[in-house]
Amino acid sequence: MKGVVFTGDRQIELREFADPTPGPGEVVLEIKASGMCGSDLKLYRAAAGEAAKALGIGESGAVIAGHEPCGVVVAVGAGVSERRARVGQRVMVHHYRGCGVCPHCSTGWMQLCVDGVAEVYGVTGHGGHAPYMKAPARTLVNLPDELSFETGAAISCGTGTAWGALQRLDLKGDQTIAIFGQGPVGLSATQLAAAMGARVIALDVSDERLARAREFGADVLINPASVQDVVGAIREATHGLGAHATLDASSSAEARRQSVQSVRTWGKACFVGEGGHVTLDVSPDMLRRQVTIIGSWTFSTIGQAECATYVADRRIDVDHLFTHRWKLDQAEEAYRLFDRQTTGKGVFLT
Ligand SMILES: [Zn+2]
Ligand SMILES: [Zn+2]
Repeated sequence: MKGVVFTGDRQIELREFADPTPGPGEVVLEIKASGMCGSDLKLYRAAAGEAAKALGIGESGAVIAGHEPCGVVVAVGAGVSERRARVGQRVMVHHYRGCGVCPHCSTGWMQLCVDGVAEVYGVTGHGGHAPYMKAPARTLVNLPDELSFETGAAISCGTGTAWGALQRLDLKGDQTIAIFGQGPVGLSATQLAAAMGARVIALDVSDERLARAREFGADVLINPASVQDVVGAIREATHGLGAHATLDASSSAEARRQSVQSVRTWGKACFVGEGGHVTLDVSPDMLRRQVTIIGSWTFSTIGQAECATYVADRRIDVDHLFTHRWKLDQAEEAYRLFDRQTTGKGVFLT
């Protein structure tokens, strides 16, 4: 089979790989949808051989990209019970492999494994941008019948990450949240927060992305490229108090600082964007206003399943996040366009 590989410096190759067969405890999926996530751009843009380092996750060889895999189980290895996985089952993959037995793995947080995460699929292990993918059966999360494979792909990282962050923030329907960055994760957060009844202030330097945020339920739009005082604009939109909560999905140092400064006293700021730094003036920005800062890295298998149930029950149109649908042999064009960071989300369909 052919799989998409990031070979460094924005280069992509479609390479030949052996069709996977499941070992003990493993399954093979036929991939139906494999999403493109913002953090793929870190891997895509990295120098040759530095892709996994760009995300601070070990070393990687030539692995198949794609960490939002969703499909159907086509082969089950030895020792996998029928309850765990069966041929024909529609599933998402929680895209991490840990030891499976430590306190974090046992509670569905394989990425937090005490031994270090053994594989991140699409980063240090073969991911979903191929016709088939092998994964431990314990990484599977059932895809509710009501949801499309595309929606399942989004929930497998971008939308699930937004969900995880909103859970960490304990967002309530009577609150206002400012969401910095309206790429796939930020826009998902806008969509989910609006569905939870919260009022959303959306920020992005792309007017195209802000226009989409409006469609997804944002109440106030701010383009930091054309506003002098971003923190002041958020205060103005919140009776001078600041937002109850903020979410940074941009990874910009400036946006992170503003996201902390624009929460109200007792407010919470959450960082989900990967990499980079932030500089804060600790007393005025945090202490003197009782501010809580939360770092949130994706979600557990349980969180992924809960996100899927929520999306199904509330009939949230997650598919609407996707502006581009591609075939695997269009990967070069797909990532070139995604790299501009003005479009919606892309997905490979097989
Ligand atoms: Zn573990
Ligand atoms: Zn991701």
